[in-house]
Amino acid sequence: MQPYSVRVVAGEVIFAEGDSPSGAYLIESGRVELSSERFGRPLVLGELGPGMLLGELAVIDGSPRSATARALTDCNLTPIEARHLVERLAAADPVVRALLTSQLARYRSMLALLGGGAASPTLSESMPIGDAVVLDKIRLESELRAALDRGELEVRLQPVEHIVSGSVAGYEALVRWRHPLRGEVSPTEFIRLAEETSLILPVGDHVLARVCEMLAELDRRGRQPLPFIALNVSARQIEDPALVDRILAHLSARNLPPDRLKLEITESLVPNQRRIAALMRRCHAVGMHVALDDFGTGYANLDVLLALRFDQVKLDASFVRALETPRGEAMVGAIVATARAMGCDLVAEGVETSEQRQTLHRLGCGYAQGWLIGKPLALETVLAGA
Ligand code: C2E
Ligand code: CA
Ligand code: CA
Repeated sequence: MQPYSVRVVAGEVIFAEGDSPSGAYLIESGRVELSSERFGRPLVLGELGPGMLLGELAVIDGSPRSATARALTDCNLTPIEARHLVERLAAADPVVRALLTSQLARYRSMLALLGGGAASPTLSESMPIGDAVVLDKIRLESELRAALDRGELEVRLQPVEHIVSGSVAGYEALVRWRHPLRGEVSPTEFIRLAEETSLILPVGDHVLARVCEMLAELDRRGRQPLPFIALNVSARQIEDPALVDRILAHLSARNLPPDRLKLEITESLVPNQRRIAALMRRCHAVGMHVALDDFGTGYANLDVLLALRFDQVKLDASFVRALETPRGEAMVGAIVATARAMGCDLVAEGVETSEQRQTLHRLGCGYAQGWLIGKPLALETVLAGA
């Protein structure tokens, strides 16, 4: 167990160049000088003060101290255990970790050069900037940016059936990336990547623009009643206060009624309840519907249905697969009743067999979506089949 705080007096050496690192420090008060032996003389590298970290570099890469730290004044230091820093680093975003280790390798190499030695081999050999997965992620992200400009992101429409009438009530817009070399990249892969940075915003805007074009085209071709199209929205889009205005601008530019566009918000975003409530108020004021997506997949909390007035609940495919057991059927029956009591439509996702559809019908579920009804299709195919 390390002491909570240590006091060192002016002139005291906190650690010396070449020591193996046992931990780092947070400087609470006082000033510390860092110096390094160069050509037999101490070279001052810098001075650190309150609020700064001391000795963290050697802890991160496990190499000997590259500098001597000496207290210039009396200091109070909070020790940071090496394993805590290492654990945090291991839990960090892999790209951030790669950035840090690459900077560290460069710094070490510079220090070696300053000392009159050769550039440290760590730069190219012992410390690659990241593993293959990280490099692939960095590459994929930059390719995704380019893909947007090259028009490689396509939007497909998957039909949603009104079970009682057997007619298609609307579609869910699902994005696809047709990569020239990788082939079709799944949205589960690249949407998650885009969501890690603000890249999801232009991707989301692209899908929004395409969806509005598609609605206008369905309208122009005389599809009556005009089906709805549901759009998936991500956390960063929800945080964008201009989202609803942008959607409305797209709709009004094409003279489309707002009630033909639905927003799908995945259940895992629901902890962000205040934001969602504000978004819903604006949507409802103009007649746009909001659906709770992937219901029952993790953060399921019934008070969400109570607190937020979703127009639609999308039952995750795992519940549809569970319909073959009596327990699964009982659970779906209870969800149907809950949705109805809350005044929401229920859409079952991932419906693949006619048995599932029949059971859903019997239980009173209003809508079905899945391969049995139709796979995600290009707009031309939807128009040809209409
Ligand atoms: P999701 O919103 O839950 O979409 C439903 C997923 O289930 C889609 O996968 C769809 O192709 C798939 N699916 C539909 N019917 C069946 C079926 O009968 N059986 C099986 N096994 N699967 C079925 P997809 O297209 O790969 O999309 C995956 C996820 O990517 C979506 O899950 C959604 O969360 C996200 N996504 C897709 N497009 C967009 C988008 O434009 N914006 C955002 N933010 N997310 C998107
Ligand atoms: Ca969805
Ligand atoms: Ca879903």
